[in-house]
Amino acid sequence: MSGSLSSVDPQIADLIRAEERRQTDTVKLIASENYVSKAVLEATGTVLTNKYSEGYPGKRYYEGQQVIDQIETVAVERAKALFGVNHANVQPYSGSPANLAIYMAFLQPGETVMGMGLPFGGHLTHGWSVSATGKWFNPVRYGVRQDTGRVDMDEVREIALRERPKLIFCGGTAIPRTIDFPAFAEIAREVGAVLAADIAHIAGLVAGGAHPSPVGHADVISTTTHKTLRGPRGAMLMATSDEHAAALNKAVFPGLQGGPHNHTTAAIAVALKEAATDGFKDYARQVVMNARALAEELLARGFDLVSGGTDNHLILMDLTPKGVGGKPAAQALDKAGLETNYNTVPFDPRKPFDPSGIRLGTAGVTSRGMGVAEMRQIGAWIDQVVTALAKDEDEAKRVIVRVHAEVRELTSHFPAPGL
Ligand SMILES: *Cc1c(COP(=O)(O)O)cnc(C)c1O
Repeated sequence: MSGSLSSVDPQIADLIRAEERRQTDTVKLIASENYVSKAVLEATGTVLTNKYSEGYPGKRYYEGQQVIDQIETVAVERAKALFGVNHANVQPYSGSPANLAIYMAFLQPGETVMGMGLPFGGHLTHGWSVSATGKWFNPVRYGVRQDTGRVDMDEVREIALRERPKLIFCGGTAIPRTIDFPAFAEIAREVGAVLAADIAHIAGLVAGGAHPSPVGHADVISTTTHKTLRGPRGAMLMATSDEHAAALNKAVFPGLQGGPHNHTTAAIAVALKEAATDGFKDYARQVVMNARALAEELLARGFDLVSGGTDNHLILMDLTPKGVGGKPAAQALDKAGLETNYNTVPFDPRKPFDPSGIRLGTAGVTSRGMGVAEMRQIGAWIDQVVTALAKDEDEAKRVIVRVHAEVRELTSHFPAPGL
C-alpha cells in the first residue's frame, strides 16, 4: 500500500497528468469552474479522507475527533466571519444536496416552492421538473422579461401572491445581472415564505465585495465552494440569524447525509482564509472587469448578449444572429482551446440538448492572472471561430488550428494556480 500513484496505477496517473496538461493548455471560460490554489489542492489530498465524523463538532457519533472537530470549527468560524453570518454549515457534499437540505428544513413533500425556471438561468434544484425538487414538491416558476433579459420583480411578486410558495429561491446558474436580494426579501415577507439565496455562482464576488450580499435579506444562503469562491468541490449553508440554525443542521445530518468529507472541509477552510485577503478582493473586482471587457469586445463584434451585457463574472450569448447553434459553436471553440458550455437562452426555440446559446465566465482566466487585454484577444478568437463555422467547414478547420496554436502561446504566459 505504499507505492506511488504512478507505480500502482499508471493508467489513472497518466490520465490525471493528461487532464492537468489539458487544463494548462486551454482557456477555461466555463462560468462554474475555477482553478484552486496549490494550498487548497494540497488540503484536498490528505489523510483526512480516512476519518468518519458523523455529527457536528463536540457532538459526534464516532471517537477520535480531536483534530477533525478543530478543522470543522475553523472552517465554520471563517465562513461566519467572511460572509458576516451567525450560522454556517460546511458539511453539504455539494450545491445540490445543500439545496435539498433547505427543502428538508422548511417544506413537507407537495408544498410549493418558487424558483427561476431552468431555461431562464435557474438551477435544477430550484424546482425544475426532472429534479427531485420538482417531482416531490410543487414548483412554480418565474423567468426574465423577453425585452430586457432581466428578472421583472413585479412579475415575481404577482406569481408569489397568486401561488403562495412556502419557499422562494433567488439566484441561478446563468444570470448575468445583479440579483436584487432586498426586493426578493420584501416579496418573501409579504407572502410569508422562506427566502433562500443560492449564491453558488457569485459567492466569491460577494465575499470579495464585487456583488451585493444577501446577508440581512435572505433567511438562508446556499453556496457551492468551487465556483468563484475558488475552493474545493463542496457547499455551505448559512443563515443571517440563529433562528434556522438547528433546522438546517438537522436537515444536512441526519436528514440527508452521513459522514462529512473532512478533507473537503479542510480545503474549504483554506479557501475561506484565502478569500478573506485583500488579494482576493482585487481578484473579485478583476473577475467583473474582465467579464465586462469580454462582453464589450463581443458586443462590438455583433454578438447578441442576453440582457445586453453583464454585472458579474458571467456572459450568456445567443448565437442565433450568427447562424450557428450553441452546441456546434461550443464544440468548435473547445477544439480551438477555448472551453465553454452550450446553454439555453431565455425563450429559446431550440431543444435544451441543442440550444441557441453559449455561456462564458471569467473566474478561471482571472485566477491565471489574465486581464482586460487578454479578454479582448479571447473575444476576437471566439468571433473568428464562430464566424468561420457559420461560413464553411474547411474554413472553420483552418481557423481552429490557427487559434489553437495562439491559445497555447497565450496560456504558456499565464501559469495556472495549483498545476
Ligand atoms: C452549481 C450550482 C448548484 C449545484 O452545485 P453542484 O455542486 O453542481 O451540485 C446549485 N445552485 C446553483 C445556482 C449553481 O450554480
